[in-house]
Amino acid sequence: MTAVNGEGGAHYAHYAHGDTSQRAVAQRQLRVVETAAALREALDAPRRAGASIGFVPTMGALHAGHHALVERARRDCDVVVVSIFVNPLQFGPAEDYLRYPRPLDADIAGLRERGVELAFVPTAEEMWPTPPRVRLVVEPPLGSTLEAASRPGHFDGMASVVAKLLSLLAPHRAYFGQKDAQQVAVVRALVKDLGLPVAVVACPTVRAADGLALSSRNAYLDPTQRRLATTLVHALDAGHAAFQGGVRTAEGVRAPAAALLDHGSFQVEYLEVVDATTFVPASTVVHGNLLVGAMRLGATRLLDNVVLGVDRGDEA
Ligand code: AMP
Repeated sequence: MTAVNGEGGAHYAHYAHGDTSQRAVAQRQLRVVETAAALREALDAPRRAGASIGFVPTMGALHAGHHALVERARRDCDVVVVSIFVNPLQFGPAEDYLRYPRPLDADIAGLRERGVELAFVPTAEEMWPTPPRVRLVVEPPLGSTLEAASRPGHFDGMASVVAKLLSLLAPHRAYFGQKDAQQVAVVRALVKDLGLPVAVVACPTVRAADGLALSSRNAYLDPTQRRLATTLVHALDAGHAAFQGGVRTAEGVRAPAAALLDHGSFQVEYLEVVDATTFVPASTVVHGNLLVGAMRLGATRLLDNVVLGVDRGDEA
């Protein structure tokens, strides 16, 4: 069998581009593959038929934020591939690699409902030799500041796995969440510097009704922590309001956010106004700069950002 859905290349002609009608979605069948060889084989027919391939890399424990990326890819592309891989290279030794949630059956069911054609679910052994012989390095400042400073080696591991996945899949478009703004900047730098032929599409942050950015790690929060967690988005909103009110100094945008985060119940790791591409701190703030923040609530890290001058949900 060479085609994703067990049919010939002509199959792809039946898809009106981006057709998300229930009928079109129901006609698609999800195939789950675990090896690079099976992935290549599954993509061979659609590629030869000229289908556009959209890719959504994830670590699983899928929620509405991931699903929004899938739905955007579904609208843009003929074939959607989602990877689920908890990448050991991007976790520090004291981090949550072993306890990271892995609800694979529910994840697969969610992808099936959304008309995804292909899920790539490799084992760690399939992806990397132990220890890995080669990995990418993200240079300063992107690779040393903020998230990179809080999580040494994280972006090197992330860039290595994204480069490998992009090389295995050769998608036309790859979808990432604006919630992880520094990750988006690293992926854009990776694609540009390595000359990879893929369009990087950033998608707006999906939030709970109270504003908290959805994250697989929110599952770690107890009810009290879950209530406190919204402080981060309220703080970022306060900084955004200052910018919208005409404030143009980084300290002036940061101060109202910092005031809300000055709270004994959690630890602020960083709160900065930065350039969205370089992550260098801004002194004079311009439209499109980011106010980024991260805090620790017990053992759980939360991060979030707002794009200054852009309404929530329009930020990517
Ligand atoms: P992860 O599984 O945490 O590695 O995330 C996979 C992708 O989903 C990344 O591109 C994330 O930025 C994105 N993502 C995670 N949470 C959200 C969210 N709340 N809104 C939009 N995208 C998200």
